Amino acid sequence: METRREPNFLSAPDVFNLEQEALPKAIDSNWGTDIHVTPVWENKGMKNTTTNHPNSLIEAIRYFDDADRCLDFVKGLRWTDGPVVCPRCGHNETSFLTTRKIWKCKGCKRQFSLKVGTIFEDSSLGFDKWLPAIWLIANSKNGISSHELGRALGVTQKTAWFMNHRIRLAMASGTFRKLSGTVETDETYIGGLAKNMHAVDRKRKIHGTGYTDKVAIHGALERGGPLVANVIETVSATTIQASIRAWVESGATVYTDQARAYLGLKRTYEHKSVNHGIGEYVSGDVHTNSIEGFWNLYKRAWKGTYTHNAPKHTVRYVDERTFSYNNRDLNDLQLMVAVTSAVTGKRVTYEELKAGN
Ligand SMILES: [Zn+2]
Repeated sequence: METRREPNFLSAPDVFNLEQEALPKAIDSNWGTDIHVTPVWENKGMKNTTTNHPNSLIEAIRYFDDADRCLDFVKGLRWTDGPVVCPRCGHNETSFLTTRKIWKCKGCKRQFSLKVGTIFEDSSLGFDKWLPAIWLIANSKNGISSHELGRALGVTQKTAWFMNHRIRLAMASGTFRKLSGTVETDETYIGGLAKNMHAVDRKRKIHGTGYTDKVAIHGALERGGPLVANVIETVSATTIQASIRAWVESGATVYTDQARAYLGLKRTYEHKSVNHGIGEYVSGDVHTNSIEGFWNLYKRAWKGTYTHNAPKHTVRYVDERTFSYNNRDLNDLQLMVAVTSAVTGKRVTYEELKAGN
């Protein structure tokens, strides 16, 4: 995996020791995870404190145990290239009310906190909990359960569950460049482990009538480049090929197995396939081993962490694992910064999460 690094892809240096121009370029190679990391040192409040930035969880907990420091940190990532902008009307003249740590907009005259318009909105938890939570989640190799997160932060499992999902939302891919060159595309199924289910559930799910907790995921991976993946309702040629057209530049070389869903790709792509049905997995350069490697990582995370979670949340785990994969060369602090940078404009309520939206 180490050999797949792009020339312009950071090999985990300390984010704060980089040249100031280097970081945005490096983050560009995050392949459109819709995350734009701008050096926090450009924020005046942080300019002289960069050497003290945390490099481990324990340092992060200590570092963010200071409300002013948290404010500087998040503000620096949110309004990177200029003044604080009102999240309600977009006006860029505001006054800061120091004692209450909120801004008043000179346009719409309303007040707003740092949390308004982000995944933190409506949460009564302080950044001293949120930022270490982001640290934990951004850096977890196999995901983290809400029980584990709750214990680590000293909050209830329900609270941790909500934080977990909000943070995953921030990690969700937004826009991305299309994949090109040589692309592997494949689909897989994931689901809860039968041995962890209650007996009744187990019976229903194993022998059950129509109900299944298996979820289909479809993905595409550019060799030496990024991966995109999504949950699909039905594994059909229509669904799968619509995704491929959305993800992959026409004319690219596309490798698949011989599933029927891929028939017809030749019209748009240089399509080649291997026939798993007759035991053919590699034919010269033609194989789907790279994306299958990602499925294996995904399934390991799922089995280790997510067995008690509802399949309807799978889409957020897919986002989380995709984020982790595409940013695997960033160090802990860079990952945390990348996720925190993505929080603006992402907001989801408990009801929406519960409803599975
Ligand atoms: Zn305003």
